[in-house]
Amino acid sequence: MVHIEQASEPQLREQLADLLDRYDQLAAGKLALDLTRGKPGAAQVALSDALDGILEGDYRAADGTDVRNYGGLDGLAEARILFGNVLGTLPEETLVGGNSSLTLMYQVIDFALTEGLRGPESAWARREPVKFLCPVPGYDRHFSICEYLGIEMLPVRMLETGPDMDQVEGLVAADPAIKGIWCVPRFSNPSGCVYSDNTVERMARLPKLASPEFVVMWDNAYAIHSLYDDAPELASIGKWARQFDTMDGIFQFGSTSKVTFAGAGVAFMGSSERNLSTFKAHLAFQTIGPDKVNQLRHVRFLRDAETLAAHMAKHAAHIRPRFDCVLDILDRELEGTGMASWTQPRGGYFISVDALPGLASEIISLADKIGVKLTPAGATFPYGKDPEDRNIRLSPTFPSLEDLQTSIDAFALCVKIASIRQRLGR
Ligand code: PMP
Repeated sequence: MVHIEQASEPQLREQLADLLDRYDQLAAGKLALDLTRGKPGAAQVALSDALDGILEGDYRAADGTDVRNYGGLDGLAEARILFGNVLGTLPEETLVGGNSSLTLMYQVIDFALTEGLRGPESAWARREPVKFLCPVPGYDRHFSICEYLGIEMLPVRMLETGPDMDQVEGLVAADPAIKGIWCVPRFSNPSGCVYSDNTVERMARLPKLASPEFVVMWDNAYAIHSLYDDAPELASIGKWARQFDTMDGIFQFGSTSKVTFAGAGVAFMGSSERNLSTFKAHLAFQTIGPDKVNQLRHVRFLRDAETLAAHMAKHAAHIRPRFDCVLDILDRELEGTGMASWTQPRGGYFISVDALPGLASEIISLADKIGVKLTPAGATFPYGKDPEDRNIRLSPTFPSLEDLQTSIDAFALCVKIASIRQRLGR
């Protein structure tokens, strides 16, 4: 297909007629395909079925704790070592919690907002407004937390190296109402970007430039989710933070939701010992302790860094063909057409597509009408509003390869129809 700007009007009209024919054929096929959320596929969750029954009646943790009983707000010692390794935090800087890292993130923000990380005077809500920096496109559930808690969101540009740090530093230095920033530093949701070493270093230094209660929310959900051998490594923010003495301003998060069972895994958090002890004082009002039985099951199953890496390689073997499938179809159907650009992540769960400005909602609605559900337009932006209405998040992990192929073929068709219609002035 020639570049949309070089095609003549008759050529475009002819192409559109062909595309609409194919669209009608697909509509008649009554598809029911869903690419909305980054869920692991059935074969992926089955990789961890050995968790079931793994304890074989041995409920003792390494220090003799009976995990069937109450207690241990920090999580099991061996789980803090294993998951601290994932985050790059020491065991005493690591808390292992329940089944969801999103819950931990919510609790940290809620706590900082209403109780204050450094006592009542430091509570963000003492002074209005409260603002957060949100690199875009980003993760919709981060943005929902802010919206729900009444925190004003300021979008920040994402570059290939991560958030635009000149913009970030300028904003936090100028406005003390900015109390934090959301980061998905490795294989960002949705762009797949891995923050560069320089970005990590500058992010670690950020609390020094910002208001005293500022927090970097370092959601490393895809820390170990590389798909290709050339996947870039992420520098350790903890290493820099120790050097700059900013650990108090950094909260790191992760979970095994996309390692073992999504929603039935183990979540963890890393920060300074001071922050963890303050956080635990607050947590103690909400729970007597986490599910240590599940933590022990995870430690017995995932054991150490090597076992964990071997397990993640099995996930990659499932996901890689799906990423390749999406990227091959986008290349074949849209490369050189001027109708879209997309990311080529080396890991994670998403591929981010930018259509021509003003077309994302229309493309998503065209796909929906023929039974292909995509993440809603705007979901990757604060308040669900993409100012250019162009970003679309594709989540290739859950469907079968065959369904994925059909879905992405249909998606490319919708991109073409919407783009040509726009060019023709409808
Ligand atoms: N953070 C990011 C960036 C995610 O993409 C997801 C899952 N889609 C989560 C957090 C959710 O993690 P959990 O299941 O541990 O709450």
